[in-house]
Amino acid sequence: MPREANRKVNVFDLARRGGELGGELQTTDLARLAGELRAVASSIDYRFSAAIDERGRPAATVTLAGKMQLTCDLCGDAIDWPLQVTRHYFFVASEAALHALPIDVAEEEGLLGSDEFDLTSLIEDDIILALPMAPRHPSCQTEHNAGSSIARPSLAEDSDRRKNPFAALATRSVGNKKPNEN
Ligand SMILES: [Zn+2]
Repeated sequence: MPREANRKVNVFDLARRGGELGGELQTTDLARLAGELRAVASSIDYRFSAAIDERGRPAATVTLAGKMQLTCDLCGDAIDWPLQVTRHYFFVASEAALHALPIDVAEEEGLLGSDEFDLTSLIEDDIILALPMAPRHPSCQTEHNAGSSIARPSLAEDSDRRKNPFAALATRSVGNKKPNEN
């Protein structure tokens, strides 16, 4: 498998031709991502399918799959994380066109296209965006949830006990107060 680091693509030409690129990237070639990973060596399968979309724009769908090793937020051990990402993009030809795009919440994101578009960098961004904020083993998460649901009632009981004397006092003083005492 040839190294695909810094893969450059003419996105406009590829979209016109309805072309597709695919291959394998090594996480060791993705310096920004590598810092987020526990074990840095793994491979990512990518597919970049370009076409002119229904609105006449050069567009592409990025599909990524792989398996990465992260660190569990709760126990600190390794956790396998399956990467499964599909993102839709369209390309504009200038910075001005990019800035003129309305900010919307559509599924497709506008990017500044180029005849030397840095596909590797886009893929790296997509992976970083997809990383979980707090990776957790399902079992650690279950224990964590169970632990907090046990702790919660006893804390509540405790604070009730602390609150109760005052609540009782308040009730009593209101009850004892006669209207003509003011
Ligand atoms: Zn864990």
